[in-house]
Amino acid sequence: MPTATVGRIYTGEEVTQDLAIDCDVCIVGSGPGGSWLAHELVAQGKSVVMLEEGGYHTRREFDLTESTAFANLYQDLGNRTTDDLSISLLQGRSVGGGTTVNWCSSFRTPDRILKNWAEVHGVSGVTKEALTPHWDHIEKRLHIAEWPLEQINTNNRVLWDGLGKLGYERGLIRRNVNGCANTGYCGMGCPIDAKQSMLVTVIPDAVEKGLTLYANASVRKLEHSGRRVSAVHADVLDPVTQRPTGKQLKITAKVTAVCGGALNSPAVLLRSGLDAGGKVGKRTWLHPVVLMMAMFEERVDAFSGAPQSVYSHHFTDRGPGKIGYFLEVPPVHPMLAATVGTNVGAPLIELMSKLPHLQACLAITVDGLLPEEQGGTVKLKAGAYSRLGFDYALGPANWEAFKDACKQMARVQFAAGAKKVMSLHYQPVVLESANDIDRLDSATWEKLKCRIVTAHQMGGCPMGKDPATSVVDSTLKFHGMDNLFVVDGSVFPTSLGVNPQETIMGLSRWASQHVAAAI
Ligand SMILES: Cc1cc2nc3c(=O)[nH]c(=O)nc-3n(C[C@H](O)[C@H](O)[C@H](O)COP(=O)(O)OP(=O)(O)OC[C@H]3O[C@@H](n4cnc5c(N)ncnc54)[C@H](O)[C@@H]3O)c2cc1C
Ligand code: SF4
Repeated sequence: MPTATVGRIYTGEEVTQDLAIDCDVCIVGSGPGGSWLAHELVAQGKSVVMLEEGGYHTRREFDLTESTAFANLYQDLGNRTTDDLSISLLQGRSVGGGTTVNWCSSFRTPDRILKNWAEVHGVSGVTKEALTPHWDHIEKRLHIAEWPLEQINTNNRVLWDGLGKLGYERGLIRRNVNGCANTGYCGMGCPIDAKQSMLVTVIPDAVEKGLTLYANASVRKLEHSGRRVSAVHADVLDPVTQRPTGKQLKITAKVTAVCGGALNSPAVLLRSGLDAGGKVGKRTWLHPVVLMMAMFEERVDAFSGAPQSVYSHHFTDRGPGKIGYFLEVPPVHPMLAATVGTNVGAPLIELMSKLPHLQACLAITVDGLLPEEQGGTVKLKAGAYSRLGFDYALGPANWEAFKDACKQMARVQFAAGAKKVMSLHYQPVVLESANDIDRLDSATWEKLKCRIVTAHQMGGCPMGKDPATSVVDSTLKFHGMDNLFVVDGSVFPTSLGVNPQETIMGLSRWASQHVAAAI
């Protein structure tokens, strides 16, 4: 079979025959985990082939509509959910992974989380001191800086003002943007390349240094024997239909790094018979999110302006036995508002007619820190090509946190001047004033009675010292294998309590030394 040239991005339609390629490192997935790893390895002169299941979509195609974006840039066209439909999972799927569609919020990993990973999960060497030089480098390259208070939009301003009035801790979010025009379309792909996603920064840098990237290449299986992966097999997909064209790629690499993101990386490993004694895909964390919507007399225009610029970590650590949460806001574009909202029929029409006056707050719960939490389990789905099965267990501590968070969000929204606040129950609880907040106590706090969403999937291949309780070691090498690494958000032993992209980037750049050493 012919050998491909290097230093290019190929799309599915350009692969007109089966290809077999030899290289130093094969990277599965082009999100922040895969991209920073590729970048560092090509800089050291290693030959790297990256395979990305999603398409290669750029600024010219980002037409600011949700229908185009969800179809091209999200897993399962934006419809990924748990099997019981109780939690909606927003996850990226294109060159750049989640960074192409994410909302730019950038945080370093909290100290208490790194300490938990060391003390509870036996992770060694993944410390603040080890990661800091990588974060410094990444922040410089991606222009990560605090968004100025005078430029925050009204949606975020409500959170800022409400938090201030109640005396709750608040801060301005740092964003990875350069020349941001404050449009609000980060979730649909930045139309002016201001967002410093992997698509416009680290991937082009790496391609310039020799990275070969195949978009529309879905990795189906890692061939392995003994302690080594011998080849990576991918189906080439039609960029339009997303179905296999019948052409295949076989990559023979000295080292393989699976960087498909949480849920997807476990699925690749499970399909390959690498289940680490049943641990792969278990302990998947979601930062499960509950929301409250508020109606304001004045226009909020929550679809316009930098989506996230204000946060509060006031409730992140709520003490022993309790699940903490942090507060931010989501952008409120029409499709997201209509589908995440729980109204149907006439109430939905009424709500959508008032969209410019709608404000939304979200509480992101910090899962994985309580000993009793199970998290999610990834399963393979027979007959479903790229769709996977996923369950997530919600216990009393989750529901207690959701209820408390909804009450606090309502307090914040009323403090900032909301006329009405609504829960996202399928029978919404409508609050007319802060005096009504305790009515949330009698709402039904159960799966499928209350909307729960997530845009932060983590875990499923947790790192740790003990192969009996973890999937990869502290260098991100798969236990029991000599040339297989997992480098993405799936290696987190717990969730973070902050938005995850910068942790993934720092960890990836840090781990590149270990991947290079295994070549
Ligand atoms: C709408 C939205 C908003 C968000 N906002 C923020 C934010 O503001 N700040 C923040 O920190 N985080 C945010 N996130 C989360 C963040 O983007 C993700 O945590 C991060 O991108 C995960 O990185 P990763 O490398 O683990 O995987 P991903 O970014 O998911 O990348 C993995 C890539 O691998 C590909 N892949 C999967 N399986 C295969 C396969 N079998 N073969 C080939 N390729 C495969 C996928 O298509 C994907 O492109 C947001 C996410 C979403 C969806
Ligand atoms: S808000 Fe800024 S970064 Fe986001 S899409 Fe608009 S210009 Fe791009």
